[in-house]
Amino acid sequence: MSTAPTFASLNLHPSILKAVEEAGYTNPTPIQAQAIPAVMEGRDILASAQTGTGKTAGFTLPALNLLATPHESKSRGPRILVLVPTRELAAQVNESARKYGKQLRARTVSIVGGMPYPLQNKLLSQPLDILVATPGRFIDHMERGRIDLSRLQMLVLDEADRMLDMGFMPDVERICEALPADRQTLLFSATLEGNIARVARDILKDPVKIQIAAQKEKHENIEQRIHHVDDMNHKNKLLEHLLIEPDVNQAIIFTSTKRHADLLADDLYAAGHRTAALHGDMTQGARNRTLTKLRQGNVQVLVATDVAARGIDVKGISHVINYDLPKFAEDYVHRIGRTGRAGSKGIAISFAANMDRHILRKIEQYTGQKIEATVIEGFEPKRPINMNAPDDKRGKGRGRRGNSSGHKSGNGRGYQSRNDNRGDRGNSGEKGRSFGNRAASDRNDSERNGNRAQNNRNMMSKEALVAEMTATIEALVLTGQKNHATLTTSQEATNREATKLTATKHSSQLAK
Ligand code: AMP
Repeated sequence: MSTAPTFASLNLHPSILKAVEEAGYTNPTPIQAQAIPAVMEGRDILASAQTGTGKTAGFTLPALNLLATPHESKSRGPRILVLVPTRELAAQVNESARKYGKQLRARTVSIVGGMPYPLQNKLLSQPLDILVATPGRFIDHMERGRIDLSRLQMLVLDEADRMLDMGFMPDVERICEALPADRQTLLFSATLEGNIARVARDILKDPVKIQIAAQKEKHENIEQRIHHVDDMNHKNKLLEHLLIEPDVNQAIIFTSTKRHADLLADDLYAAGHRTAALHGDMTQGARNRTLTKLRQGNVQVLVATDVAARGIDVKGISHVINYDLPKFAEDYVHRIGRTGRAGSKGIAISFAANMDRHILRKIEQYTGQKIEATVIEGFEPKRPINMNAPDDKRGKGRGRRGNSSGHKSGNGRGYQSRNDNRGDRGNSGEKGRSFGNRAASDRNDSERNGNRAQNNRNMMSKEALVAEMTATIEALVLTGQKNHATLTTSQEATNREATKLTATKHSSQLAK
């Protein structure tokens, strides 16, 4: 992070400086050094900054500075509104605002989807200074007249590119129309290209443009690796090998579907890792509990989908593993940004099969970095990726890609629950023994494996159906083309199918 200037030179209120000192920050990061003075001058901001750059404090600190001067109006509504794409990011921003605004006694509230309305109604009826919200739930309350917007002075759009991807922009634009026209607006986004530029033109007034780090300089503290893989079985073997490496402190593994996140989490848990899943089908309470366990170090391996993992800021995450590559290059950058937090070192590992060449090329173009393939002895791919080959059409489309990885997720589950060494990963001897036993067991178990393979083949069509439906739903949600009624019905059908499938699996395992 940058050396000059100092926080003291930024003219922040003394109580904010104290909070910064308590947080242990010595110097502002580049985004903070550029954004804080411009925001304090009252300018609109258009900033491209990745998560991990300190962007949250970049807007929270000057926003709090605004609160240091009391508002002349006697009304009770928020003076600052921060719109974010996900609940997790809302929790993170809320926590930062509370941390830095403690001395100022700033009243901060977070209003997100999936939480009960009565509690939110109560929170909104009290005087507040900062409101952090997801756009959909904010609109719900706004339209019911529950939010007094008369003294709103600042709007922050955090991870605006993500809100765009998730189809929130029409909501954001409606919110903007309802806010006082003389407000200040700050827009933060991983990219400033494409539709974000149009949104920025519509929403911002003569903004100061801040661009942090050219694409290729991003994530310098994160070592990126690619492993070419042949199939799901190969992925599982590699994963098993990587997770027992001594340098793994905590890891986030990304899968392309929620269903697969659950399955993989179950398998890794059964294999002796302290594992949990995190995805959008979980209740907010369950997601919060999982994140707390991750922060406390009680969860070592988190298996997550993109939507849920946005905004996770846990210093102990030493590894990010892309079990499935993301559908969009931007998501790759967000995913790997879960490691290497606050200047620490991180490792980002991606599994890529031949059909992933298209997205791999996109990622390299987007990041401006070539990611060299790494081969581990004993785990060599039989079919390394030929990057010069033309794109495999199956790998290109979102649905197809989700479909094919989902399909394989059912077919090649390599982890079996052979010991009851649950949650005992802290003991390194134990963890080596666990995998060693499983490997030996695998060798002696070829007949049983044959049966399992047959079983898997019988179940493939159901798995493929479930995976296809799940992938389609996730793709719809991501692109914002969601029709709530259809989605709910499809999701319910998927869940029913998944439950049937799990029951079939369990009974077939019990029968052995
Ligand atoms: P963010 O990009 O806002 O998600 O922040 C990434 C991480 O950087 C968080 O863990 C912050 O606590 C940390 N951070 C923010 N500002 C600073 C700073 N000036 N010096 C050191 N760490 C910081």
